[in-house]
Amino acid sequence: MEGKSIVMKFAVCLLAVALGLTITSSAENSYTVHDVNRPNPLVITAPKGFGQPPSDAIILFDGKDTSQWQNEKGSGPVKWKIKNGYMEVVKKAGDIRTDIRTVKEFGNCQLHIEWWVPPGLDPKITDQKRSNSGVFFMGRYEVQVLDSYTADNYKDNKTYADGQAAAIYGQYPPLVNACRRSGQWQSYDISFLRPLFDDKGMCVRPARITVLHNGVVVHNNVEIKGTTEHKKKAQYSPHDKGPIRLQDHGNPIRFRNIWIRELPEQPYLIAD
Ligand code: MG
Repeated sequence: MEGKSIVMKFAVCLLAVALGLTITSSAENSYTVHDVNRPNPLVITAPKGFGQPPSDAIILFDGKDTSQWQNEKGSGPVKWKIKNGYMEVVKKAGDIRTDIRTVKEFGNCQLHIEWWVPPGLDPKITDQKRSNSGVFFMGRYEVQVLDSYTADNYKDNKTYADGQAAAIYGQYPPLVNACRRSGQWQSYDISFLRPLFDDKGMCVRPARITVLHNGVVVHNNVEIKGTTEHKKKAQYSPHDKGPIRLQDHGNPIRFRNIWIRELPEQPYLIAD
């Protein structure tokens, strides 16, 4: 059995190397089942209520402080409206958008963000013009923000399915439409696994994402196909960590209570 175990480990190592993954021969990968020497996970303080940050979260926006954010180019401060605990997209004159991005860059992470789209819009404002924004991971991979509430099974509010609220834009519609009416705050809780690339820039592990919209799972560990594109097939191009980016699509969308937890790579090798 010992020989078989060694062969298995060797095969797993070969597979990991082929995938471009980093192999650590540290103790974390060499525990036996129920090994008492295996460290227990870090103890943190769990949140008291829905949406409240746990103790190990980085607060990206607490309602006032925008120091964790900058303009999209990373060359200056945020120019969105800050009021009553939220920040609101301010459309720039002309066609130049004013996306904002976090100063810090992230890879694997858990993000909580709350968003709001304005009520009382003219029903003639439809499709992708109806309160469009978005939450981008690593500056590239968008979870759509849109007013996709429908009281009439989409007859009153049409757009393409992979562009509605909570879609992985251009790739996957949400499993269900969990939208609240405009004028009500909504939440995304998202866990994101970054893509990995080899030395030649080939993607050896696509990104994966799980999204809860208003507490409902709408994407369950799906594989992202590449950088978000409009009317184009998504493809990967190599990159390292990147910012969380919020989109200005010309609509006054509000965001509040934004926090993030950086997540480590999971150990790839399981116990013997
Ligand atoms: Mg968008």
